[in-house]
Amino acid sequence: MEKFEAIIVGAGLAGLAAAYTLAREGVEVLLLEKGDYPGAKNVSGGRLYVNPVRELFPELWGKAPWERFIAREGVSIMAGERSLKVEYCGDELSREPYQSYSVLRAKFDRWLAKQAEGQGAMLVSKSRVDDVIIADGQVVGVWAGGDELRADAVIACDGAMSLLAEKAGLRNPGNPRDYAVGFKEVIELDSALIEERFGLEGKEGAARLFMGEVTRGKFGGGFLYTNKDSLSLGIVVAIKDLMEGSPAVQAPVLLDEFKQRPEIARLIKGGESVEYSAHAIPEGGFKALSRLYGNGILVAGDAAGLAMNIGITVRGMEYALASGYYAAQTVLQAQKKEDFTAASLSGYEKMLNNSFVLKDFMAFQEAPAVLDTPRFFKHYPELVGNMMKDIYEVPAGPKDRLYPTIKKYLPLKEMWAMAGDMRKVMKI
Ligand SMILES: Cc1cc2nc3c(=O)[nH]c(=O)nc-3n(C[C@H](O)[C@H](O)[C@H](O)COP(=O)(O)OP(=O)(O)OC[C@H]3O[C@@H](n4cnc5c(N)ncnc54)[C@H](O)[C@@H]3O)c2cc1C
Repeated sequence: MEKFEAIIVGAGLAGLAAAYTLAREGVEVLLLEKGDYPGAKNVSGGRLYVNPVRELFPELWGKAPWERFIAREGVSIMAGERSLKVEYCGDELSREPYQSYSVLRAKFDRWLAKQAEGQGAMLVSKSRVDDVIIADGQVVGVWAGGDELRADAVIACDGAMSLLAEKAGLRNPGNPRDYAVGFKEVIELDSALIEERFGLEGKEGAARLFMGEVTRGKFGGGFLYTNKDSLSLGIVVAIKDLMEGSPAVQAPVLLDEFKQRPEIARLIKGGESVEYSAHAIPEGGFKALSRLYGNGILVAGDAAGLAMNIGITVRGMEYALASGYYAAQTVLQAQKKEDFTAASLSGYEKMLNNSFVLKDFMAFQEAPAVLDTPRFFKHYPELVGNMMKDIYEVPAGPKDRLYPTIKKYLPLKEMWAMAGDMRKVMKI
């Protein structure tokens, strides 16, 4: 039996942030990761917003392995063979310090692991934790590959389907309603072609989101981020929506269809797919969060349900980094008090409440229910597609005036339905 001051399970961004923060303060910390190396099994669309976590790790950002800073935002509404694209660029996106970057997790997590190890954290990869050890109602360690490993505190950072939080009695088995699934490809493409196709210069990058036909009208959407010399392309769909309807839709088929759309095919043309991954995303929001602490244990990142989809953004990486940081701070405080009971660790929830993390989750707590409105993903994209067609079409004969053309799509019944949807949207 070995004893450490802290054991962290899972070397994703939550676990790495916790390990780095604790090791920096001289805590003897063991970080266990089941993958071959940190980042090997981690999936993200790949966009990290730095502002919320800039002050937590100010020394790190200057040397992080960013792909490109996002200087151009785009949203496309897709319906049948039509699509409407809106692009935004503003000087705040192109000015340092940059708001957000594209990242590749296989590189980024490995780099962050090196920083944590540099501070003294002990990382053991290819090590799967199977259970928590509970003595007198207190988590006192974990079982990993038959080894009994003990610690004053355990931080569960084992991702969306957290076994540890469940074993410690802090969450129930996952409910499909609270999860989406994401499929992603990394497509290698010459950097000059990327810059030409997306209108970029130097280290500038583009982020594009897609909704409507891309998920066959189901809750979710597509994403495309430009990296240095590759593109991250994928889709995210609510698991409940995938299961409903007969026959059930196979999410990988949606990704194939997405790649074949002309708008996408021309952007990825000539590229080579070098990575394919799939992963669950906890999207149940505030109401689906796990309990965040118990006797001897804290839960951070996706393991606690700290990822959020509000339609225009899917965010989880900053919440993982910040919750890992605050979990580590809580352990440091508990060490001073020499008290690792739930009462002592409850400071973690207070820290998250006072930070952007739980403030965001409370502010957007209605988002999952609001976005569970099929009209947003099917009816409106079709309406927009048809309306744009009529607006831009010049027939052989005379063309209708613009107002009646638009009005045709907005009869009173539609306006009432829209007002109802707007009332929902006003909650987020
Ligand atoms: C397709 C997709 C697109 C996304 N896009 C974005 C985006 O653009 N921006 C954004 O901010 N977020 C995005 N997210 C969400 C984001 O990726 C997650 O919120 C984030 O990775 C959570 O980090 P984490 O450290 O909590 O979990 P993870 O990164 O999942 O790390 C958990 C780690 O625990 C390890 N592990 C699991 N079980 C065990 C065990 N029993 N023993 C040992 N190790 C274990 C795993 O191998 C893994 O390394 C996306 C997610 C997906 C799936």
